[in-house]
Amino acid sequence: MNQKHDAGDSLYRKDPKVYPRDVKGTFASLRKLAVVVLLGLYYILPWINWGGNQSVLFDLPARKFYIFGLTFWPQDFIFLTLMLIIAGLSLFFVTAVAGRLWCGYACPQTVWTEVFLWMERWVEGDRNKRNKLDASPWNRNKIIRKTSKQVLWISFALWTGFTFVGFFTPIRELGHSIITFQLGNWETFWLLFYSFATYGNAGILREQVCKYMCPYARFQSAMFDKDTLVIAYDEKRGEPRGGRRKSDNPSEKGLGDCIGCTLCVQVCPTGIDIREGLQIECIACAACIDVCDQVMDKMDYKKGLISYTTEHRLGGNESHVFRPRIFVYAFLLLALVAGVLWSVNHRVLLRADLLRDRNALYRELADDRIENVYTLKLINMDSVLHNYQIEIVGHDDMVLFISPEPVLEPEEVGNFILRMQAPASLGRGSVEVDVRFSTMEEPFIERTVSTRFLMPFD
Ligand code: SF4
Ligand code: SF4
Repeated sequence: MNQKHDAGDSLYRKDPKVYPRDVKGTFASLRKLAVVVLLGLYYILPWINWGGNQSVLFDLPARKFYIFGLTFWPQDFIFLTLMLIIAGLSLFFVTAVAGRLWCGYACPQTVWTEVFLWMERWVEGDRNKRNKLDASPWNRNKIIRKTSKQVLWISFALWTGFTFVGFFTPIRELGHSIITFQLGNWETFWLLFYSFATYGNAGILREQVCKYMCPYARFQSAMFDKDTLVIAYDEKRGEPRGGRRKSDNPSEKGLGDCIGCTLCVQVCPTGIDIREGLQIECIACAACIDVCDQVMDKMDYKKGLISYTTEHRLGGNESHVFRPRIFVYAFLLLALVAGVLWSVNHRVLLRADLLRDRNALYRELADDRIENVYTLKLINMDSVLHNYQIEIVGHDDMVLFISPEPVLEPEEVGNFILRMQAPASLGRGSVEVDVRFSTMEEPFIERTVSTRFLMPFD
């Protein structure tokens, strides 16, 4: 059915600006701690060196990733894939046990928005002052405050973009390139792009990202069941809500414990009213728990009108933390973590590729011997220099020659010419030969590579 709209009508409804009220309490302190720890790690890690390299550096041009003293090569990308799977599974596990814990305390959108809100509060004051400032006409005070906030936000966003690029380009070199105006095009693009994304998401869009853009908010309900921890208002206890004096007896007035102060709505960063029931917009930040507990304290009522609970508990039933799906997630997670740790610990830090010389299949030497020539590519994936010993396994009558000397610096890639010689009596057609590479000093590293040694057919 077609609907007619007046020229001035719009299908777009602008959401009112949400200026959450500042809140103090146990969960607010935990959230601040999470912000300080997580953003502290983000901003400080690139400046810390570990084992001679930046502690976390995804060096894309060199195709090497440095993570806390470990170097990952393109051959190791399976580990990075597994780490991403572990991160995803951890999210499922935490969500099944504790609901939107990730959203409330650890999601980048939450932590950066929190910092942008701190800056806004420093400059413009608390919720009431910010609302008043918005409603006031443009005057000197408003221009100074709004401009100062933008300067703070943009500086912080640029520093965030700079740090982001610092995970892909050594951050000290990056800083030097900026100071000397020698920043490359790609680095400039990503620095500005990430800065803009931070400013836009944490400064301008804020709760809109959680409400309308985040896909996780949509599909996580599939991981919820009636025993998942959620933040909820105890309707049975709170209703009917209404104002009263502290000295009043609520039951005599026919009232529940909610005094209708709306503080839980004022502190909500997504601007919802938790008293209307569980809502997809709730990011489980627990600000409403903190503020309502303070109200309950002031009224001498029992705390917990809004609390972490489960749907089962709300309905008066018993709640179970240990459910089959929790065991399945925990088992998969443990098995994957143990597997990855074991595999990373047992990686062979040497790569050897033998490539046959395609120009000559084999050479017949004067002393009735056959020679095959190979190009050997050796990669020393270790962080110390190595001399390599190279030997043919199981063929005492074969010899090999290599040039130049197989000595490689840490993380060096070297190309060598390898010549293998065998008596003509060794066989006909082709013979499989195993070549063993090993280090001549600690730590001992060994790898065996198979290749084919070609002989005359007749
Ligand atoms: S903060 Fe508590 S008492 Fe105040 S309106 Fe919200 S639920 Fe009711
Ligand atoms: S309803 Fe409560 S827990 Fe949910 S987002 Fe709002 S303040 Fe945070």
